[in-house]
Amino acid sequence: MKKKLIVGNWKMNGSLAANEALVAALKQGLAAQAADGGCGVAVAVPAPYLAQVQALVADSRIALASQDVSQHAAGAYTGETSAQMLRDFGVRYTLVGHSERRQYHGETDAVVAAKAQAALAAGITPIVCVGETLQEREAGETQAVVKRQLAAVVHAVGHCVTELVVAYEPVWAIGTGRTASPEQAQEVHAVLRAQLAAATTQAEGIALLYGGSMNAANAAQLLAQPDIDGGLVGGAALKAADFLQIIAAAN
Ligand code: PGA
Repeated sequence: MKKKLIVGNWKMNGSLAANEALVAALKQGLAAQAADGGCGVAVAVPAPYLAQVQALVADSRIALASQDVSQHAAGAYTGETSAQMLRDFGVRYTLVGHSERRQYHGETDAVVAAKAQAALAAGITPIVCVGETLQEREAGETQAVVKRQLAAVVHAVGHCVTELVVAYEPVWAIGTGRTASPEQAQEVHAVLRAQLAAATTQAEGIALLYGGSMNAANAAQLLAQPDIDGGLVGGAALKAADFLQIIAAAN
């Protein structure tokens, strides 16, 4: 069976002390789980803490992820962080196009595609987030929206499509406690898989994560769906016990 991938998205939470305690608890919990053959695990931490968490996870199976990346390589872009800078801190994955970036920072499909390209050029795996708003779902536009969002990235990255991770995160399920049902999620994942299959013969190997109020109670059912290869976890990733239970469900 394909290895699953569980990514914690800490968003703008944490502190030096809280991060240290959380990672210590995760490492202790992971050491008690199956030593090998387990799922992939990563945490997407706020930029100022990359160095701290890089050191904390160095002797564990937890990979380091960034929550965003600049579409530019270097230069006069105040406040931005380049993919190469992230590489310097051992970052292996970066989220691109999280709905909070699209919504609060005006990131367009074109910007998200450029960020995915910038990450790939530096050897970082982009986790491309797509998802519809409640209004779009109720208007019957879910498939059109996620296909449009994914198409921009697939078109931009060309043959590197096999190096992407894609996360389906319905905006109405993020941070709301309202999870997509396993059937609702699987339906969209199948659409995304078919879209990827039109671009590459290796679409089966591309990890499709579900995100949006995934928790210890619903993870196993979601992860049992044929096209759900892992999870992008927000709130529940801040509590070691909950995150560990989600990882256990994916092992
Ligand atoms: P949530 O967030 O698990 O708190 O809904 C998921 C995300 O935004 O990545």
